[in-house]
Amino acid sequence: MLSYQHIYHAGNLADVHKHAILAETLAYLTQKDKPLSYIETHSGRGLYYLDSDQAVQTGEAAAGIERAQTEGWFDADHPLSRAIAAVQAQHGPSTYPGSPLIAAKLLRPQDKMHLAELHPQEFRALSAALVTTDAKTYRQDGFELAQSLLPPTPRRGVVLIDPSYEIKSDYERLPGIIASLNRKWNVGVIALWYPLLANGRQRAMRDALAKRDFPKVLHHEVQFPAAREGHGMIGSGMFVVNAPYGLGNAVNQLDGLFGSLSA
Ligand code: SAM
Repeated sequence: MLSYQHIYHAGNLADVHKHAILAETLAYLTQKDKPLSYIETHSGRGLYYLDSDQAVQTGEAAAGIERAQTEGWFDADHPLSRAIAAVQAQHGPSTYPGSPLIAAKLLRPQDKMHLAELHPQEFRALSAALVTTDAKTYRQDGFELAQSLLPPTPRRGVVLIDPSYEIKSDYERLPGIIASLNRKWNVGVIALWYPLLANGRQRAMRDALAKRDFPKVLHHEVQFPAAREGHGMIGSGMFVVNAPYGLGNAVNQLDGLFGSLSA
C-alpha cells in the first residue's frame, strides 16, 4: 500500500532542483516547432497548496521555493518562474505546480501528455488538476505505462521518472529500466530523479547508472541542509539521458544557487 504524499514535500529544495531542470529541458525542446510527447511515470497530484496544514507542518516549501523566490534565484523569464506564475494566476498565490502542471504550462497544443499515478487519492487530484488540458491520466504503474507507450507518437520528447522510493527495490531496478526504455526510444530524453540520502542508499544505483553506456548524459547533484534534524535527505540528483544541448549552462547556474545554501 502506497502511503507517500508529496504535499508534505512539495516545493522543497529537491523539487526546486528537479523542477528547474525539467522546466529548462522543456524550454529547450519547445524551441523547435515539432511536436513532443511528455510522459510521467510518478506524477503525484499536480497542484499543491503551500498554505495547507501538511505543507506548513514540514516547512519544506518555506525552506525551498519560498526562500528561492525571496532571494530571487530565478528571473521572471526562467521557465520555472513562468510555469509557477501561470499556475498561481489560475489557482491562487499559495499554489505550487507539480511536475505535470509545470509541463502543461510549458508545452504547446501540438504536444501530448501521458501521466501515471497509482495512489487513488493522488490520481483523483491529478485528474482534476489537469482537467482543462488534453493530458491523458492513467491510474497505472508508471513503469508499465512507459514500457507500453515507448516509442511514443510524437517521437520527440521526455519521460520523467520521479519515484517516491517507498519500494526499496526501485534503487536496484532503475538502471535496468532506464536501459530498457533507452533501447525502445533511443532519441527520447529520459530524466530520473533520486534523493541523496545521509545513509548513502542511492550510491549503488548512481554507480550502476554511471557505468552504463547511455547517450548524452547529464548527471547533476546538489547538496542542501536536511529539512529538520534527523531527516535523511541531504541532496537531490538528476540523471538525464539524451540531455538537450544547453542544459549544462542551466545546471551551472544551479550549482551557484545551491552552493549558497550552507547556512
Ligand atoms: N513528480 C511529482 C512532482 O514532481 O510534482 C512528484 C511525484 S511523488 C515524488 C511520487 C508519486 O508516485 C506519489 O504520488 C506516489 O503515489 C506515486 N507512485 C508510487 N509508485 C508508483 C508507481 N509504481 N506508478 C505510478 N505512481 C506511483
